[in-house]
Amino acid sequence: MQDLYHWIDGREVQGSSGRFSDVYNPATGEIIARVPLASAAELDAAIASAEKAQIGWAATNPQRRARVMMRFGQLIQDNMDKLAELVSREHGKTLPDARGDVQRGLEVIEVCMGAPAMLKGEFTDNAGPGIDIYSMRQPLGVVAGITPFNFPAMIPLWKMGPALASGNAMILKPSERVPSTSLLLAKLAQEAGLPDGVLQVVNGDKDAVDALLDHPTIQAVGFVGSTPIAQYIYGRAATNGKRAQCFGGAKNHMLIMPDADLDKAADALIGAGFGAAGERCMAISVAVPVGQKTADALIERLIPQIEKLKVGPYTAGDDVDFGPVITAASKTRIEGLIASGVEQGAKLLIDGRGLNIQGYENGFFTGPSLFDHVTRDMDIYKEEIFGPVLTTVRTDSYQDALDLVMDNDYGNGTAIFTADGDTARDFASRVNVGMVGVNFPIPVPLSYYSFGGWKKSAFGDLNQYGPDALRFYTKTKTVTARWFSGIKDGASLNFKALD
Ligand code: NAD
Repeated sequence: MQDLYHWIDGREVQGSSGRFSDVYNPATGEIIARVPLASAAELDAAIASAEKAQIGWAATNPQRRARVMMRFGQLIQDNMDKLAELVSREHGKTLPDARGDVQRGLEVIEVCMGAPAMLKGEFTDNAGPGIDIYSMRQPLGVVAGITPFNFPAMIPLWKMGPALASGNAMILKPSERVPSTSLLLAKLAQEAGLPDGVLQVVNGDKDAVDALLDHPTIQAVGFVGSTPIAQYIYGRAATNGKRAQCFGGAKNHMLIMPDADLDKAADALIGAGFGAAGERCMAISVAVPVGQKTADALIERLIPQIEKLKVGPYTAGDDVDFGPVITAASKTRIEGLIASGVEQGAKLLIDGRGLNIQGYENGFFTGPSLFDHVTRDMDIYKEEIFGPVLTTVRTDSYQDALDLVMDNDYGNGTAIFTADGDTARDFASRVNVGMVGVNFPIPVPLSYYSFGGWKKSAFGDLNQYGPDALRFYTKTKTVTARWFSGIKDGASLNFKALD
């Protein structure tokens, strides 16, 4: 078993709190490492050194900071296999999916190479007699990133890239279930030329998070995780006067219109519903066919595809479509929700419970499940399952389907499959969800846009990565400057126009 560490001041630091958390290989159920859980005192030390390092980093010209991003991106590319292996080992997702996890994070770093252009201020000359006005974007100082287990590479990179490229220092607190990828990323950032102390990876649980939320030096908190924790973190950070953007859970619906290409819609549901064992905040967990005929035809196409899905350890390579869920507790929770669906009257067409994989009997596997005739009042509809369970809510009209999505508490992603441009356009324009796909099931925006949900899927302002993130991690200063040559007016006590 490996003993993990924190990454503070550019080196490995053993934890001194005496508290640890076990890290599992979810495919075997074995404990593979233990990660130290930082105390408030350990965080104080990391934050103090980040505060010192940030001064020099903020004074480094943006082009040089961008060059560090460029080298960091190259090193991520060079270490793709190693990073993907770490992701798969601690998370359980397949290797191709783990590479995608690294790749979508790398793309954010690539966009951050262009940060100097995006961080430019504005300038107005001759705004009044001898007066120029200009604005500049300055880093906030030391900021915190708190990330979930389900994208061990991508989401830490979403946090690091914009925060560091804009001149901040960051304390990253990754999920204690998947800490190794962030630790390797921090080493690569150092190799890329990031000065020691600018990026600290401090492992921990609620104690460490609370210490970050209460620390006066931390200027902003970027959080991604479940909705109850997002809401808690947003409230506590905001009460302490910090800037906060906290992204939460999801319940993503996909509408299937009667005119949709049903083969393509079924293929899309298989990938978006079961990929990464459904542990994606943009997974489609609710299929919403419009019309009974559409529903029957869709289910007919889904069943054989779901029955063919192969579940197993990432080490089995191409023989596996998705892996285990993250913990034994998560498996119990998912299978408990499936039982509740049956009790509450939904029709369980495929039951993934009780899956036993030879040689991996202690792994946290649950097979794919499919429900039909799910209704709004059932727990399997109301709760985020975060597992390989696709539910089907049948609707009679487009308006009913739209209302279903609109009434849902969550608003991360949604999709519509249709051949009709007017319906697609109407849906995209009216739906109260942050990211919308048209004949596209997982509409995660590319890295030069920004990512964010609505309703209970996000608390705070501005989205993650892209232009929004550079705004989030900087504050604007506006300077009004006057030079006196040729100006004759004397003192005035009035608040007046400049002309
Ligand atoms: P989680 O909320 O349990 O944990 C997220 C982070 O918060 C971790 O670093 C964890 O250590 C910390 N944390 C946990 N409990 C805490 C507490 N009581 N006080 C303070 N900090 C605490 O989430 P998870 O299980 O790691 O991730 C899955 C969730 O994340 C799902 O709900 C998923 O939808 C969501 N998610 C959302 C997005 C998005 O962008 N909206 C992206 C990925 C995942």
